[in-house]
Amino acid sequence: MAQSNGGTQTRAEIGVIGGSGFYSFLDDVMEVTVDTPYGAPSDSLFIGEVSGRQVAFLPRHGRKHHLPPHKINYRANLWALASVGARQVLGPCAVGGLRAEHGPGTLLVPDQLVDRTKSRAQSYFDGEARSDGQVPNVVHVTFADPYCPVGRHAAVATARADDWEAVDGGTLVVVEGPRFSTRAESLWHAAQGWSVVGMTGHPEAVLARELGLCYTSLALVTDLDAGADTGEGVSHEEVLEVFAANVGRMRDVLFDVVRALPDNRERDCLCMNPLGGQEPGIALP
Ligand SMILES: [Zn+2]
Repeated sequence: MAQSNGGTQTRAEIGVIGGSGFYSFLDDVMEVTVDTPYGAPSDSLFIGEVSGRQVAFLPRHGRKHHLPPHKINYRANLWALASVGARQVLGPCAVGGLRAEHGPGTLLVPDQLVDRTKSRAQSYFDGEARSDGQVPNVVHVTFADPYCPVGRHAAVATARADDWEAVDGGTLVVVEGPRFSTRAESLWHAAQGWSVVGMTGHPEAVLARELGLCYTSLALVTDLDAGADTGEGVSHEEVLEVFAANVGRMRDVLFDVVRALPDNRERDCLCMNPLGGQEPGIALP
C-alpha cells in the first residue's frame, strides 16, 4: 500500500465511513494522512478506485477498532473527507432493531434521526476560536431532513437490485453508548415509533450537512434491541457475528451505490447550501 501526503491521486469524490472490510481487497489503495483544525481523524484515509471513481475510505473506529463511539473525532473525520474533495459520503453502520420485523440482517436506509447522545462536539460553528486562530461564526443549519434524498434513493434502489430488500426510511435513534440500552430505554425508543438504534449516526450526519456534503446512512441490523428481544439482551459477540456474515454483501451494495451516485458537479439536492447565506467565519474545505 502506497503512502502519500499530496498529489492528484490523493483526491476523492466520494467518502465512505466504515470498517476496513470495505477497502482491504482493492488492488491499489493509497494511504493518505490528513490533519485537520480539529485534530486527527480516526485513521488515515484509504483512497482507491471503484468503477472509475475515486473513493476515500475512513475506518470510523480506527483500523484497530480502538475508538469507542463517544471518543470518535467526528468533526475531524468529516473535515478530512471534505478536504480531499469528497462531496458525497456513505455511512454504513451497525444498529439494533427496535421492531420484530427489523431482525438481524435487515438493511434499513433511515430518513430521520433522533439524537440522544450527550457529550459530542456536533458543530463546526460554535463561535469558539480554533487552534489555528480562526473563529467560526455561530450558524444554524436546517436539518429537518437529515439525509441526502438522492443518496437515499440510490442506496435503496441499488440494494434492491442486488436482491437485498432494503427498508426505505425509518428513524435511527442515536445513543451515547458504549453500553447497549436497558430494556426500559429500548421499549421507550420503540414506543416512539423509532426503527433502529445505533451509536455513531450522530453527529456524522449533521457535520456532513454543515459542510454541504451529501450524507447517506446504510444501517445494518445486527441484533434485536433489548426491548424487542425476548432473550438476554444484546451482546457484542452477537453483533460481530451478524456483521461478519453480512460484510461482503454490504460491501457489494456500497460499491454499487458508489456507481449510482451522481457526479459531484451534477449534485442538485437540499444538502448543498446548508448555510443559506449565513457567513461561516472560517474557511471551509
Ligand atoms: Zn445531497
